[in-house]
Amino acid sequence: MDHIEIPYIEGDGAGEDIWHASREVLEETVLKAYEGTKKLVWIPLLAGQKAFDRTGNLLPEETVDTVKRYKVAIKGPLTTPIGGGFRSANVHLRQVLDLYVCLRPIRYFPGLPSPLKKPEGVDLIICRENTEDIYKGIEWKEGSNEALALLAFLKEKMGVALARDTGLGVKPISRTGTARFARWVIEYAVKNRRKSITVVHKGNIMKYTEGAFREWAYDVAREFEEYVVFDVEDGKISFNDRIADNMFMQVILKPEDYDILLCPNLNGDYLSDACAGLIGGLGVAPGANIGDHAAIFEPTHGSAPMYAGKDLSNPTSFLLSGAMMFRHMGLGRAAQLLERAIEETIGRKIVTYDLARQMDGVTPVRCSVFGEEVKKRLVQGAGT
Ligand code: NAD
Repeated sequence: MDHIEIPYIEGDGAGEDIWHASREVLEETVLKAYEGTKKLVWIPLLAGQKAFDRTGNLLPEETVDTVKRYKVAIKGPLTTPIGGGFRSANVHLRQVLDLYVCLRPIRYFPGLPSPLKKPEGVDLIICRENTEDIYKGIEWKEGSNEALALLAFLKEKMGVALARDTGLGVKPISRTGTARFARWVIEYAVKNRRKSITVVHKGNIMKYTEGAFREWAYDVAREFEEYVVFDVEDGKISFNDRIADNMFMQVILKPEDYDILLCPNLNGDYLSDACAGLIGGLGVAPGANIGDHAAIFEPTHGSAPMYAGKDLSNPTSFLLSGAMMFRHMGLGRAAQLLERAIEETIGRKIVTYDLARQMDGVTPVRCSVFGEEVKKRLVQGAGT
């Protein structure tokens, strides 16, 4: 039997419930897909609050080293307190491993609730640059020595006078960072036969960061003229752009007109949650953080602290992240089997509270029960 070792980070808050509901489902998927010839073996890793409580470090070196060595991991959400000196372990993990692409598919399937009249057309992939923009975390507190020094510099050297009680942040977006990201996304679109790529930016206001992001993305797209067009032409990938505020309206009114959204970090973050809302919410929105040397698969959602330990959260986004991981590892059959079992379970209106409350006359099941129901459909095979 082939043993497939996968490092995992359980996550904080509702992450624990979700992990417990999902673990056996992922194991069973692989056993079933490969008729008992392959088996998952989990390698537990610490990060976030749990790591801090046990080691005094939010992101122990061993965690980073293990992901580097295995080149793949799956993780639950980690809590990041707002304000204070505690930077996000999630963001740090993406940066130290240089996971510069964040891939978040938003795909409607029958059974999911939606506020849209015709949700069938929703099949978006949000591609979010994952290492630059305000997520670099370069900012200074109002009144700090650094903020005052920078304010003085801006006034004396740049002729920009700001109030003394201003907090300051830097929004770095580089040509190099944008180009490698755009190249990855275009290659992905070609490989996966996607129909369009839309750059989402606020370049009308932030000209040298988001405006430049747009220009640099177009520069890369021009290198792909065999596959990409800047107009509409059958059989080629249409490459276009939208200003971010307009994009938020477009995904609600005409989601079927869009396919891949190529976004700087913050726009991608906002759009991920907004688009998840088109197909029932964060409970069904998976994701992947991918670099040239490693990839970490994780749901879009956070640790949902209000629901921690209550066995209520929806494990679908974690399970679908697992399916993305399987595909990335060349375990396509497992990915397909798992996606089918999830779709079938939801199609039968077996759903957790987050989806049930958007549906008429549906009683929610617990997180763990949802996992068991998916597992049942894996064991029995499709159509049961
Ligand atoms: P959240 O994603 O945890 O929750 C937002 C809303 O979605 C809540 O109403 C929540 O109940 C609901 N929700 C989220 N996941 C769900 C699920 N699986 N099933 C059902 N409902 C679900 O966002 P938040 O409350 O803004 O953040 C909580 C914490 O998570 C913060 O510390 C934040 O920094 C962190 N966070 C972590 C990640 C990550 O680990 N990648 C991502 C986002 C936020």
